[in-house]
Amino acid sequence: MTAQTYDVVIVGAGIVGAAFAAALRDSGLKLALVEAHPPAPPTDDWDARIYAISPGSAAFLESMGVWQTLDQSRIGPVYGMSIRGDSGAELEFDAYRTGVPQLAWIMESGRIQHGLWAALQDQANLTLFAGASCAELAWSASGARLALADGTVLHSKLVVAADGGKSWVRAQAGIDSRREDYLQSGVVANFVAEKAHRGIARQWFREENVLAWLPLPQNHVSMVWSTDAAHTEALLAASPEQLADEVARAGGHALGKLRQVGRTAAFPLSINRVSSLVQHGLALIGDAAHGVHPLAGQGVNLGLRDARELAQVLQHRGAADCGDLALLRRYERARRGDIVAMQTVTDSLHHLFRSKNPLLMKLRNVGMDFTNQLNPIKAWLIRQALG
Ligand SMILES: Cc1cc2nc3c(=O)[nH]c(=O)nc-3n(C[C@H](O)[C@H](O)[C@H](O)COP(=O)(O)OP(=O)(O)OC[C@H]3O[C@@H](n4cnc5c(N)ncnc54)[C@H](O)[C@@H]3O)c2cc1C
Repeated sequence: MTAQTYDVVIVGAGIVGAAFAAALRDSGLKLALVEAHPPAPPTDDWDARIYAISPGSAAFLESMGVWQTLDQSRIGPVYGMSIRGDSGAELEFDAYRTGVPQLAWIMESGRIQHGLWAALQDQANLTLFAGASCAELAWSASGARLALADGTVLHSKLVVAADGGKSWVRAQAGIDSRREDYLQSGVVANFVAEKAHRGIARQWFREENVLAWLPLPQNHVSMVWSTDAAHTEALLAASPEQLADEVARAGGHALGKLRQVGRTAAFPLSINRVSSLVQHGLALIGDAAHGVHPLAGQGVNLGLRDARELAQVLQHRGAADCGDLALLRRYERARRGDIVAMQTVTDSLHHLFRSKNPLLMKLRNVGMDFTNQLNPIKAWLIRQALG
């Protein structure tokens, strides 16, 4: 058995954990990053998992030199957003009128994750434990002790849980999480569109489900259809031609005919509220800290804001050690509001648009039209999306 000592041990090198490690490159802290499944290099095929990355997240990736290494020909700028309610109400956002070059970037998950992973390979203050699995984790007054399945033992002042929604680290710490299953999945697939999408992201709040089309380069669109179990099964069983027809029809043929490229996949949707983001010697970031409905496309963006905040708190810790609870509470206080606001907005929208109450059905469409005419509310919504 070999024992090693670090300042910070990070479990999970998804986009959030890897970005957190990269943000601490010049911190002088000695880091270990444990990842069970390192990302494979990207291929020419389009990733089924696509994210809307906010300008704030793009700037964070740029600050650590990762954005510059990503293949820009695979990134689609969003110049406008068109959101429609189930009775024809409309809400529109426009980059030009907002005074920004673009509202977001549409990107492949695998390419971001691999870009971060590549940047970590030569990071002098970091040791990577790739393909490792965690066996035991315990905290004592002197810090944390993580035993890996191969017998390696990692001691540290702080463990950062970046191991996703079903976080093993969070469970070892005994932190409560309340997961509410939305009884829906996010069905994802990519298409080539007949008509130019002009960088417009489109979303339809339909009576039974929410459909989104995100603009990718080469006139591809990425679909996320948040829908119930029976419809998910039907979409997964459909042939590429049947699926393309159904998706085009559901979007009112806004981009003419669609042709599917690549596979269809589905991810179960839930909201996950975690009782505490920190304990002595522990901090949670990314999906380990919160789960949100993807209808606002903000899960990764929220997680990257966690990573940026926690990295800043650690870099400005003064004489405190990294696992100090008072120090970590600074991170929790800074992040709580953003997380609760995003969970509340996405959860409320989800329930509002699933309601069969005739008054709410009317109100939700009136609300969208009203918001469309009220520039201060639109400006607030835009600020959240750009963050
Ligand atoms: C259908 C759908 C669409 C979405 N669209 C968007 C979008 O447009 N924009 C957006 O911002 N978000 C979106 N999201 C949310 C986004 O997918 C998540 O918020 C994001 O993946 C969370 O990243 P993470 O790094 O925290 O966790 P994960 O991506 O889950 O990464 C966790 C990592 O930890 C590793 N790991 C887990 N357990 C262990 C262990 N015990 N030991 C070692 N390693 C471990 C895993 O291998 C993995 O690499 C969407 C989600 C869904 C379901």
